[in-house]
Amino acid sequence: MDGSSNHNSNPNPARIILIPFMAQGHMIPMVDMARLLASSGALVTFITTPVNAARIRPIIDHIENSHLPVRFVQLPFPSADAGLPAGCENADLISSPDLFKSFMEALSLFGEQVKLYLTAANSTAVPADCIIFDCLNSWVRAVAKSLDIPHIMFYGPSCFYILCAHLLKKHQVLKSIDDDYEPFKVPELPEPVEVMKAQVMRWMDRPGWEKISEEFYKTEKSAFGVVMNTFEELEKSGLDKFRKEIGKKVWPIGPLSLANKDLDSKVMRGKASSIDTGVLSSWLDSKTPNSVMFVSFGSLSRNPISQLVQIGQGLESASSSQLSFIWVVKEAERSEEVENWLAEFEERTKGRGMVIRGWAPQAMILGHVTVGGFMTHCGWNSTLEAIAAGVVMATWPRFGDQFVNERLVVDVLRIGVAVGAKVPIFYADEMSGKGLVKGEEVRKVVEKVMQGGEEGEERRKRAKELAEKARKAMEEGGSSFENLKRVIQFAEGEKKHFE
Ligand code: UDP
Repeated sequence: MDGSSNHNSNPNPARIILIPFMAQGHMIPMVDMARLLASSGALVTFITTPVNAARIRPIIDHIENSHLPVRFVQLPFPSADAGLPAGCENADLISSPDLFKSFMEALSLFGEQVKLYLTAANSTAVPADCIIFDCLNSWVRAVAKSLDIPHIMFYGPSCFYILCAHLLKKHQVLKSIDDDYEPFKVPELPEPVEVMKAQVMRWMDRPGWEKISEEFYKTEKSAFGVVMNTFEELEKSGLDKFRKEIGKKVWPIGPLSLANKDLDSKVMRGKASSIDTGVLSSWLDSKTPNSVMFVSFGSLSRNPISQLVQIGQGLESASSSQLSFIWVVKEAERSEEVENWLAEFEERTKGRGMVIRGWAPQAMILGHVTVGGFMTHCGWNSTLEAIAAGVVMATWPRFGDQFVNERLVVDVLRIGVAVGAKVPIFYADEMSGKGLVKGEEVRKVVEKVMQGGEEGEERRKRAKELAEKARKAMEEGGSSFENLKRVIQFAEGEKKHFE
C-alpha cells in the first residue's frame, strides 16, 4: 500500500514516520497531521495495521489521488499473541475493560514488527529523519534509540489536561486526598479550576499499571519535543507553563481537523459515514441557522438503554418549535430493545430529529451553519472540532481527560454549559448504567445552550471569536502553521546531522 507519488518540489524532503495509537480519537488527528506535513513538504510514512487501514481506505485513496507524499504501511498486529480476539486492532473493538491491558501488551509486541520493518535487510522502508509517535506508544523509545532516530511525542489531549496531570504528579496531590468527590484546586495551574479526584485519576494511576506508567514518563523524558493538537491563542498560559514544566520544545499545531478543507475529506474522517451525506446535507439545509443541536459522545463512550431513553426524553421535551437535533446512536449501543424504542421516538420527532445509527461525519455536521450546539462527552478532538466550528457545547464528560476538558470549556473559555455529570464511567463499564443523567437535566441544558438569552448570545459570540482565531492559526503565517514548519525544519536539520 505505497501511496507515494511524490509531487514535492523539495528534492530532499524531511522524512517523517508517524506512529498513531490505535483508537479513533488518536488515529484521526494523526491522519490529519500526515496530510498537513505532506502538504508542507515532508515525505510521510504512516504506520498502521490491516483492520485500521481497511477502515481508512477511502482517506488513503483520497490522499493518494491528491498526490500527497504519504506512504501508508500496514504491519500485522499481534492480537492473538496478547490473548485478544483476532482483528481486535483498535480500542473501540475491545469488548471488556479487562482486555485493555492485553491491548497495551499487543501494542508493545507491535513495536517489534515496526523495528523489523525499519531494519530488515530487504525492507522497503524509507530512512527516517524523525518519528512522531502517539504518547501511548512508549515502545517507540527503545526502537528510536536503537536506530538513532530522534522522536517527537504527540499528545492528543488538551494542554490544559496534560498540564493538570503533570502538576498533580509533581505535587503528589492525589495521595493526600481521601474523598473522591471533594473539589480541590490544581496547584500552580495558571487558570485555577476545581476538579475531583475520581475525575482526574487516570487508568495509568491504577494499581497494576505501574510499569506502563513508568515507561510512559521515561518516553516523555527521552523525546526531543512534543507536538499537540491545540493552538497557541486557545491555551497560551497553559502552553507557556507546560513548556517550563517539561523543559523541552512544545509545538501546538492544531486544530488538526482544519487540515480537511474539502467536503470529501471532512466526510471521510475516521470511518465511512453511516448516513448518505446528500440526505444529511438536504436535511441540514432545510433548517434555520443555529437551530440544530448535534448530540454525539465520541467513539468509545457507550450509553445503556436507560440513559438513551433519558437523552431521548430530554431532546423531545426541549421547548422550541425551531429546535432540531441530530443524535448519533453507536453500533455498540444498539439492540432489539433499543431499536424498538427508537422507532417510536423517531415517529414522534419526525421532521425535527434525525438519528444516525453508527458513524456520523462529525466534522461536516459541526461545520454546517444550521448547527448551533453540540452535546459532547468532551473528548479533546470533539471539543476542538466544536471550537474550530464556533459551536457552543453542552458538556457531558465520561472518563480520561474529559472532565478536565469540561472545566476548560465551561469555566475558562466560557463556551459551554455542563449537563452536570459527576461520576466517571470508563467506556466499557458503561453498560452498568452508573451515573445516570435524567431527561429533565438534558432538556434544561439543551434549552440553555440553544437559547439562553443574553448569556447564551455572549457564549455564542465567544465561540465564534475562537473559531476565527483557530482558522487564522492554521493559515499561512498563523501560529500552528509556523509551528508545523518548525517541526519539519527540525527533521530537516536532523537529516543534515545524520548524513
Ligand atoms: N467521530 C466521528 N463520528 C462519530 C463519532 C466520532 O467523526 O460518529 C470522530 C470525532 O469527530 C473525533 C473522534 O471521532 O474526531 C473522537 O475523538 P474524541 O477525542 O472526541 O473522543 P474519543 O472517541 O477518543 O472518546
